[in-house]
Amino acid sequence: MLKERKLIIAGNWKMNKTVAEALDLVHGLKLELANVKEVDLVVCPPFTALSEVSKVILDCNIRLGAQNMHEKNGGAYTGEISAMMLKEFSVRYVILGHSERRQYQKESDALISAKAHGAHASSLKPIVCVGETLAEREAGQTEKVLETQVRGSLAGLSKEQMGETILAYEPVWAIGTGKTATAGQAQEAHVFIRRLLADLFDETVARRARIQYGGSVKPANARELMSQADVDGALVGGASLEARSFADIVKNSI
Ligand code: PEP
Repeated sequence: MLKERKLIIAGNWKMNKTVAEALDLVHGLKLELANVKEVDLVVCPPFTALSEVSKVILDCNIRLGAQNMHEKNGGAYTGEISAMMLKEFSVRYVILGHSERRQYQKESDALISAKAHGAHASSLKPIVCVGETLAEREAGQTEKVLETQVRGSLAGLSKEQMGETILAYEPVWAIGTGKTATAGQAQEAHVFIRRLLADLFDETVARRARIQYGGSVKPANARELMSQADVDGALVGGASLEARSFADIVKNSI
C-alpha cells in the first residue's frame, strides 16, 4: 500500500527470551524478512540479549532497539543502563514510557522527557509511548490524557529532535488483552496526536512524524490498521515473540 510516511514496525519482546531463544527468533526473522525494503524493521530484545542479537543483524535490514534506558549517562544508579551503554551494541532505537513502565515503575511524563533528551544526546531514536486506560476512555478523557502525555513526554525537544523521534499510540486497554482498537479508533487518536504535534512544533514536523499503533496487533488485523492514513507502523508485543507472526504482520502491512 502507498503511504505518506515509511512504515516502522517494531517488536517489543518485553521480559521474554533467554539469549539462546533470542538468537533463534532473530535468525528466523532474518530469513523471513530478508527482502523487505518497504518497512523499517526494529527488534527490541531484553538488555541481556542485545549483544548477541546485534551480531546477527549486523548485515541485514533489521535494526536494534532497547526497551528502556536511564536518563543520565553514568553514575551511582544501581541496576540502570545508559544510552552510551546501549550504543556499544549498535542500538538505534529505545522504547520510552511504555505503559507497563508508567504503571509498574511509576514513570512520569517528566521522566520520560528527560530520557528522550538523554536518548537524543547519544543519537538514539526514542519511541515514545502514550495511551489511555479503559477507565479514561470510558470517562471521555482520551484526548485530555493523550494531550498531557504528548506535551509532557516531548517537553523541550527541538524540531530536529522531534524529527528523529517516533511516537507510539498504545491504548492501555488493548495491550496484551487481545482487544484491538478498531482501525477507526486508531486513526482518530493518531490524527489527534498529529494535530498536537503541529501545535507543539509545526505543520512540517507533524506531517513527517511517524506514529505507530500498538495494542494486540496480529497478522489478521495488521492490514486494516496499517491502511489508515495516519497509522505509520506498529509496536508489537505478544505477536513479535514468534518469527512467523511478526513476519506476517510486516508482510500484511506492505
Ligand atoms: C506492547 O507491549 O507494546 C504491545 C502492544 O503488546 P501487545 O502487542 O501484546 O498488545
